[in-house]
Amino acid sequence: MLVYVYAADLLCEDCGKKCREELTAEGKAPEDPDDEVSYDSDDFPKGPTEEGSSDSPSHCSDCGCFLETELTDVGVDELLSDCERAMRGDREANDVLLQWVDHYEGNDSRVSLSALANTGLTIAEILHEVARLDGEVKRLSAEVEHLQAKLRDS
Ligand SMILES: [Zn+2]
Repeated sequence: MLVYVYAADLLCEDCGKKCREELTAEGKAPEDPDDEVSYDSDDFPKGPTEEGSSDSPSHCSDCGCFLETELTDVGVDELLSDCERAMRGDREANDVLLQWVDHYEGNDSRVSLSALANTGLTIAEILHEVARLDGEVKRLSAEVEHLQAKLRDS
């Protein structure tokens, strides 16, 4: 994905364009926005440009969208370790992690189940975590039923 660099942060293409328009409307645009050596990215967003590879997935600093960053080997190792911890139950498999995995598993051959197996994760660990979550779901639905019954009686 193409990005803009602004104030030591990354912006997605839409936010970068919007930010440039706002600064231009405020009269804060450089004389020639295409001449990127003539101004500092702290003052006006530079881009759009390829982000290049990074040690961690980036998100737009304005809207928060995932920028589909290309990962370095370090970045891939960290992502795999995050997945491994989530499957062991040591980390939350939150929306952000799911978004990354959804993207990288299909677009980066280094992110795969067999690579994850190389981290030492065992089938038993995955199944124990699934069983734990299963138990949690049963416990919560029993609680919901109990509360619904209470509401009906009141
Ligand atoms: Zn954005």
